[in-house]
Amino acid sequence: MISEEDARAKILEIVRPFSSRRLSILEALGRFAVQDYFARLPLPMFDNSAMDGYAVIASDCQKGARLQVVGEQPAGADRKLRVSNGNTVRIFTGAPMPAGADAIVMQEDITRSGDEIVVNIAVAAGEFVRQRGCDLGEGQKILTAGEGITAAMAALLASQGFDEVMVGGDVCAAIISTGDELANPGEKLQPGQIYDSNSTLLQGLLQRAGAIVALTQQCKDDADSLRKAFEAGTRSEIIIVTGGVSVGERDLVQAALRNLGAKIDIWRVAIKPGKPFLFGQLRNSLVFGLPGNPVSAFVTFLQFVRPAVLKMMGAADLELPKAPARLVVDLRNDGDRAHYFRGRLDHGNFTPIGRQESHALFGLSQSNALLRLASGEIRKQNDLVKVELW
Ligand code: AMP
Ligand code: MG
Repeated sequence: MISEEDARAKILEIVRPFSSRRLSILEALGRFAVQDYFARLPLPMFDNSAMDGYAVIASDCQKGARLQVVGEQPAGADRKLRVSNGNTVRIFTGAPMPAGADAIVMQEDITRSGDEIVVNIAVAAGEFVRQRGCDLGEGQKILTAGEGITAAMAALLASQGFDEVMVGGDVCAAIISTGDELANPGEKLQPGQIYDSNSTLLQGLLQRAGAIVALTQQCKDDADSLRKAFEAGTRSEIIIVTGGVSVGERDLVQAALRNLGAKIDIWRVAIKPGKPFLFGQLRNSLVFGLPGNPVSAFVTFLQFVRPAVLKMMGAADLELPKAPARLVVDLRNDGDRAHYFRGRLDHGNFTPIGRQESHALFGLSQSNALLRLASGEIRKQNDLVKVELW
């Protein structure tokens, strides 16, 4: 049995980022940049009005001042207008500032009669003017290699005139759920059978991590079925198999992999739930063997598979998001493995939920956070802890 940290380090040492490609900024959503990007344009690109109103010289605008309207500047083509003392230009949000003007008076703060306005308030220079470059300077870094492309990031790239971005490669995964007891949701159950929920769990987790599920297979606990399933799986970069990785006579996954010539790098990790976790390499595919118990599959996916997938995709941050939380109960880990408690983070409070047992899928479904206690760690009610979110 190796430590959880050593297992993760070993996996991440073997995993390599995939080669990059150019995608449209929308196709790149959820993927990771492979190079730095810098602003080609300042934002805003030119001084412009933040309001519908009147472009003025602030020092003209004592309360009650009268100004002559000499033109109109909508957003769009710059009409190259000029404001001199005693004059004003009607202007709209986003329109370029006329030369000479140094402030905008909101239309709500004037009274207009014909070609004249009366200013009803005092105006300070710079008011409601968006200065060129105040948001973003030319040459400033806008995207760092390894950073994810969010909708807002894609919008920033668009604002810079980029229509494409270089991102990391796609990760294709094959899922194999093993077990003589498994039936598909929608089928009629025979006595002793259970529905295969791990396949759905893993498809969901993989999709959320940004991977493509190329193949899902269900497989009986016999050497021949396993061999066929693994053969088919090797067309994908990663194979995730659940069940059959423990120590029972029906746990044939490891033997099937070895018979196909796989190298087993890791088997059994000091993590609860998830001790029978297995990691190996079969031809060009990485194989993750997750225990069949749903909560074990869930925890080992998040701790070992997710960071590997993210690294392949070119991500810099491989960790789950973390949040501080106040513990609602006493918790201790008397075992010899790191224990991930499932629970709910709600308004900054973390409460363990449901049975903390590896088959307890309902409790997991009600949870939104994991609290890791190292072997021997004791935490008291009201302690401040860090929980992991997914
Ligand atoms: P195993 O790891 O094969 O020993 O299975 C451990 C437990 O997980 C058993 O109770 C199995 O019935 C259950 N299990 C295995 N595979 C699945 C699956 N795909 N969906 C739901 N439960 C499963
Ligand atoms: Mg089994």
